[in-house]
Amino acid sequence: MIEESIAAGAAAQGQRLSDDIVTKLAALLSSLERWNDRVNLTAVRNIQDMIKLHILDSLSVRPFIQGPKVIDIGTGAGFPGLPLAIVEPDVDFVLLDSHGKKISFVTQMIVDLQLDNVKAVKERAEHYEPAFGFDTVMARAVTSIPRLLTLAGHLIGDTGHMLVLKGRYPVEELETIRSKGQWQASVSKLVVAGLDSHARHVISLKRKSSVS
Ligand code: SAM
Repeated sequence: MIEESIAAGAAAQGQRLSDDIVTKLAALLSSLERWNDRVNLTAVRNIQDMIKLHILDSLSVRPFIQGPKVIDIGTGAGFPGLPLAIVEPDVDFVLLDSHGKKISFVTQMIVDLQLDNVKAVKERAEHYEPAFGFDTVMARAVTSIPRLLTLAGHLIGDTGHMLVLKGRYPVEELETIRSKGQWQASVSKLVVAGLDSHARHVISLKRKSSVS
Protein backbone atom coordinates (compact mmCIF):
# COMPACT_ATOMS: atom_id res chain seq x y z
CA MET A 1 0.00 0.00 0.00
CA ILE A 2 1.21 3.48 -0.86
CA GLU A 3 0.08 4.83 2.52
CA GLU A 4 2.05 2.24 4.50
CA SER A 5 5.24 2.85 2.52
CA ILE A 6 4.96 6.63 3.02
CA ALA A 7 4.28 6.31 6.76
CA ALA A 8 7.10 3.78 7.28
CA GLY A 9 9.60 5.81 5.24
CA ALA A 10 8.77 9.04 7.06
CA ALA A 11 9.02 7.28 10.45
CA ALA A 12 12.47 5.94 9.45
CA GLN A 13 13.44 9.59 8.87
CA GLY A 14 12.16 10.52 12.34
CA GLN A 15 8.80 11.98 11.23
CA ARG A 16 5.58 10.47 12.53
CA LEU A 17 2.76 11.52 10.21
CA SER A 18 -0.96 11.53 11.05
CA ASP A 19 -3.29 9.36 8.97
CA ASP A 20 -4.83 12.48 7.45
CA ILE A 21 -1.44 13.71 6.22
CA VAL A 22 -0.45 10.28 4.86
CA THR A 23 -3.77 10.14 2.98
CA LYS A 24 -3.05 13.52 1.35
CA LEU A 25 0.51 12.53 0.37
CA ALA A 26 -0.79 9.29 -1.18
CA ALA A 27 -3.53 11.19 -3.03
CA LEU A 28 -0.88 13.56 -4.41
CA LEU A 29 1.08 10.63 -5.86
CA SER A 30 -2.05 9.01 -7.33
CA SER A 31 -2.86 12.26 -9.12
CA LEU A 32 0.74 12.61 -10.28
CA GLU A 33 0.61 9.12 -11.79
CA ARG A 34 -2.71 9.87 -13.52
CA TRP A 35 -1.59 13.23 -14.92
CA ASN A 36 1.77 11.80 -15.97
CA ASP A 37 0.00 9.48 -18.43
CA ARG A 38 -1.21 12.58 -20.34
CA VAL A 39 1.26 15.33 -19.48
CA ASN A 40 4.96 14.72 -18.89
CA LEU A 41 5.35 16.01 -15.33
CA THR A 42 8.07 13.73 -13.99
CA ALA A 43 10.49 11.14 -15.36
CA VAL A 44 9.94 9.07 -12.20
CA ARG A 45 7.16 6.60 -13.07
CA ASN A 46 7.43 3.71 -10.63
CA ILE A 47 5.31 4.37 -7.53
CA GLN A 48 7.91 3.13 -5.02
CA ASP A 49 10.50 5.41 -6.67
CA MET A 50 7.99 8.29 -6.51
CA ILE A 51 7.58 7.69 -2.77
CA LYS A 52 11.35 7.84 -2.21
CA LEU A 53 12.36 10.51 -4.70
CA HIS A 54 9.37 12.82 -4.45
CA ILE A 55 7.75 12.36 -1.02
CA LEU A 56 10.54 11.18 1.32
CA ASP A 57 13.25 13.29 -0.32
CA SER A 58 11.02 16.39 -0.01
CA LEU A 59 10.23 15.63 3.65
CA SER A 60 13.91 15.12 4.49
CA VAL A 61 14.49 18.87 4.28
CA ARG A 62 11.66 19.69 6.72
CA PRO A 63 13.97 20.33 9.75
CA PHE A 64 15.82 23.02 7.77
CA ILE A 65 12.75 25.05 6.81
CA GLN A 66 12.47 28.46 8.40
CA GLY A 67 9.00 30.08 8.24
CA PRO A 68 6.54 31.65 8.13
CA LYS A 69 7.10 32.41 4.43
CA VAL A 70 8.66 29.86 2.08
CA ILE A 71 9.04 29.82 -1.70
CA ASP A 72 9.94 26.77 -3.81
CA ILE A 73 11.64 27.98 -7.01
CA GLY A 74 11.26 25.73 -10.08
CA THR A 75 8.85 23.53 -8.15
CA GLY A 76 7.91 21.51 -11.27
CA ALA A 77 5.04 19.22 -10.23
CA GLY A 78 5.34 20.60 -6.67
CA PHE A 79 8.52 19.11 -5.22
CA PRO A 80 9.67 19.63 -2.58
CA GLY A 81 6.98 22.29 -1.93
CA LEU A 82 3.74 20.28 -1.94
CA PRO A 83 4.76 17.52 0.52
CA LEU A 84 6.27 20.16 2.83
CA ALA A 85 3.13 22.30 2.68
CA ILE A 86 1.01 19.25 3.51
CA VAL A 87 3.05 18.46 6.66
CA GLU A 88 3.49 22.13 7.68
CA PRO A 89 -0.01 23.69 7.41
CA ASP A 90 1.00 26.74 9.50
CA VAL A 91 3.73 27.79 7.06
CA ASP A 92 2.82 29.79 3.93
CA PHE A 93 4.25 28.41 0.68
CA VAL A 94 4.58 29.94 -2.77
CA LEU A 95 5.27 27.30 -5.43
CA LEU A 96 6.74 28.96 -8.51
CA ASP A 97 7.56 27.58 -11.95
CA SER A 98 7.63 29.05 -15.44
CA HIS A 99 6.11 25.90 -16.99
CA GLY A 100 2.33 26.27 -17.44
CA LYS A 101 1.32 22.60 -17.32
CA LYS A 102 3.32 21.95 -14.17
CA ILE A 103 1.73 24.94 -12.45
CA SER A 104 -1.71 23.71 -13.61
CA PHE A 105 -1.03 20.45 -11.79
CA VAL A 106 0.08 22.27 -8.63
CA THR A 107 -3.01 24.51 -8.80
CA GLN A 108 -5.28 21.46 -9.12
CA MET A 109 -3.57 19.81 -6.11
CA ILE A 110 -4.12 22.95 -4.02
CA VAL A 111 -7.85 22.62 -4.76
CA ASP A 112 -8.12 18.82 -4.45
CA LEU A 113 -6.10 18.59 -1.23
CA GLN A 114 -7.59 21.80 0.23
CA LEU A 115 -4.21 23.39 0.88
CA ASP A 116 -5.06 26.89 2.05
CA ASN A 117 -1.40 27.63 2.89
CA VAL A 118 -0.18 27.30 -0.73
CA LYS A 119 -0.18 29.67 -3.70
CA ALA A 120 0.95 28.56 -7.19
CA VAL A 121 2.69 31.16 -9.38
CA LYS A 122 3.53 30.77 -13.07
CA GLU A 123 6.54 33.01 -13.49
CA ARG A 124 10.28 32.98 -13.96
CA ALA A 125 12.08 33.38 -10.65
CA GLU A 126 14.13 36.31 -11.93
CA HIS A 127 10.95 38.20 -12.91
CA TYR A 128 9.02 37.54 -9.70
CA GLU A 129 8.80 40.69 -7.56
CA PRO A 130 6.69 40.01 -4.44
CA ALA A 131 6.08 42.79 -1.92
CA PHE A 132 8.02 40.94 0.82
CA GLY A 133 11.10 38.77 1.29
CA PHE A 134 10.90 35.07 2.13
CA ASP A 135 12.29 33.34 5.22
CA THR A 136 13.24 30.33 3.08
CA VAL A 137 13.86 30.30 -0.68
CA MET A 138 14.29 26.67 -1.67
CA ALA A 139 15.07 24.76 -4.85
CA ARG A 140 15.65 21.18 -5.97
CA ALA A 141 17.10 20.17 -9.34
CA VAL A 142 16.76 23.59 -10.95
CA THR A 143 20.25 24.97 -11.67
CA SER A 144 23.66 25.50 -10.05
CA ILE A 145 23.92 27.27 -6.70
CA PRO A 146 25.66 30.37 -8.13
CA ARG A 147 22.97 30.69 -10.80
CA LEU A 148 20.18 30.19 -8.26
CA LEU A 149 21.56 33.05 -6.20
CA THR A 150 21.58 35.23 -9.32
CA LEU A 151 18.02 34.26 -10.31
CA ALA A 152 16.38 34.21 -6.89
CA GLY A 153 18.71 35.93 -4.39
CA HIS A 154 16.40 38.98 -4.42
CA LEU A 155 13.60 36.84 -2.94
CA ILE A 156 15.51 36.14 0.30
CA GLY A 157 14.29 38.34 3.19
CA ASP A 158 16.70 40.25 5.46
CA THR A 159 16.99 37.39 7.95
CA GLY A 160 16.10 34.60 5.50
CA HIS A 161 18.17 31.96 3.76
CA MET A 162 18.29 29.92 0.59
CA LEU A 163 18.07 26.12 0.87
CA VAL A 164 19.34 24.09 -2.06
CA LEU A 165 18.76 20.32 -2.23
CA LYS A 166 21.63 18.54 -3.91
CA GLY A 167 22.91 15.06 -4.62
CA ARG A 168 26.58 14.60 -3.87
CA TYR A 169 28.55 17.32 -2.06
CA PRO A 170 28.75 20.19 -4.62
CA VAL A 171 32.45 21.01 -4.22
CA GLU A 172 32.93 23.30 -7.22
CA GLU A 173 29.69 25.25 -6.79
CA LEU A 174 30.58 25.96 -3.17
CA GLU A 175 34.11 27.04 -4.10
CA THR A 176 32.62 29.54 -6.57
CA ILE A 177 30.29 30.93 -3.90
CA ARG A 178 33.04 31.13 -1.26
CA SER A 179 35.45 32.87 -3.64
CA LYS A 180 32.92 35.68 -4.07
CA GLY A 181 32.77 36.23 -0.30
CA GLN A 182 29.15 37.44 -0.01
CA TRP A 183 27.45 34.27 1.20
CA GLN A 184 27.91 32.00 4.20
CA ALA A 185 27.20 28.40 3.23
CA SER A 186 26.57 25.48 5.56
CA VAL A 187 26.13 21.94 4.26
CA SER A 188 24.22 19.11 5.97
CA LYS A 189 23.60 15.53 4.94
CA LEU A 190 19.99 14.58 4.34
CA VAL A 191 18.57 11.28 5.54
CA VAL A 192 16.20 9.78 2.96
CA ALA A 193 14.81 6.32 3.74
CA GLY A 194 15.90 3.85 1.05
CA LEU A 195 18.54 6.13 -0.49
CA ASP A 196 22.33 6.00 -0.11
CA SER A 197 23.20 8.14 2.92
CA HIS A 198 26.04 9.81 0.98
CA ALA A 199 23.74 10.79 -1.86
CA ARG A 200 21.80 13.77 -0.52
CA HIS A 201 22.85 17.14 0.87
CA VAL A 202 21.17 20.42 1.69
CA ILE A 203 23.03 23.72 1.49
CA SER A 204 21.85 26.71 3.51
CA LEU A 205 23.07 30.09 2.24
CA LYS A 206 22.85 33.34 4.17
CA ARG A 207 24.07 36.79 3.23
CA LYS A 208 27.18 37.48 5.30
CA SER A 209 25.72 40.90 6.15
CA SER A 210 22.76 39.15 7.84
CA VAL A 211 24.91 36.80 9.98
CA SER A 212 25.79 38.28 13.38
N1 SAM B 1 11.91 20.99 -8.30
C1 SAM B 1 11.21 19.96 -9.06
C2 SAM B 1 11.70 18.60 -8.65
O1 SAM B 1 12.75 18.49 -8.01
O2 SAM B 1 11.02 17.60 -8.98
C3 SAM B 1 11.34 20.18 -10.57
C4 SAM B 1 12.73 20.06 -11.12
S1 SAM B 1 12.78 20.28 -12.88
C5 SAM B 1 14.19 19.38 -13.30
C6 SAM B 1 13.28 21.97 -13.03
C7 SAM B 1 12.13 22.95 -13.03
O3 SAM B 1 12.64 24.26 -12.89
C8 SAM B 1 11.31 22.93 -14.32
O4 SAM B 1 9.96 22.69 -14.01
C9 SAM B 1 11.52 24.32 -14.92
O5 SAM B 1 10.37 24.80 -15.59
C10 SAM B 1 11.86 25.14 -13.69
N2 SAM B 1 12.68 26.33 -13.93
C11 SAM B 1 13.92 26.39 -14.48
N3 SAM B 1 14.37 27.66 -14.50
C12 SAM B 1 13.39 28.42 -13.95
C13 SAM B 1 13.25 29.83 -13.68
N4 SAM B 1 14.22 30.69 -14.01
N5 SAM B 1 12.12 30.26 -13.08
C14 SAM B 1 11.13 29.40 -12.76
N6 SAM B 1 11.20 28.06 -12.99
C15 SAM B 1 12.31 27.58 -13.58
